[in-house]
Amino acid sequence: MSFSLTNKRAVLFDMDGVLYDSMPLHSKAWSMAMADFGFKMSPTDVYQHEGCTGAYTINWVCERDGKDAVSDEEIGRIYGRKTQYFMAMPPAQMMPGAYEVMQKAKASGLQIQVVTGSGQGGLIDRVQHDYQGFVTRRLMITAFDVKRGKPYPDPYLKGLEIGGISASEAVVIENAPLGIRSSVAAGIDTIAVNTGPLPDSMLLGEGPVMLCHSMSELADMWDTLY
Ligand code: CA
Repeated sequence: MSFSLTNKRAVLFDMDGVLYDSMPLHSKAWSMAMADFGFKMSPTDVYQHEGCTGAYTINWVCERDGKDAVSDEEIGRIYGRKTQYFMAMPPAQMMPGAYEVMQKAKASGLQIQVVTGSGQGGLIDRVQHDYQGFVTRRLMITAFDVKRGKPYPDPYLKGLEIGGISASEAVVIENAPLGIRSSVAAGIDTIAVNTGPLPDSMLLGEGPVMLCHSMSELADMWDTLY
């Protein structure tokens, strides 16, 4: 393994599926909301589109199932329902091992940043509390900060900009294929952490420098990356 953290100055964490074990909740909320409107959405469908906008995901399912195109209005209703279901669920747990990875990163002198496609205000506020001493709003990019989300490189490019670092000085930690596509397109070395049900090959196909199966595994091997 040739990848090294030696010359890195910052680590950019994705949020859902990396800092929080929130994807099973999103998955459940999506499948309930889509079922209400006559669509089928499996956990694999959800994880495959993780990071995309709600509209993109809804259009994709609709096309796959050979249904008529849905209007923007109906997309709004479906996505609104999904948000309702998600908000009614118990709060997402912190991802096991994520806190330890942050501790290791900080001890290594790395600047901590968060780059998420999420627009869920609750979780965006909570991350600063749960990861207090590591995460600050000033170094966060959310759905509100960019026009084009993942898989475009924009969120990660903006992250580099606010962090005052170059792509080669950063490392990204991502769990979703399209999230990895975004950070790789921004020219940043990316560590894939497969915390969901997709096969490793779907993440590896997007070009990460390495892959772990949990944040705990990454925490355990952190020191070997120097
Ligand atoms: Ca994610």
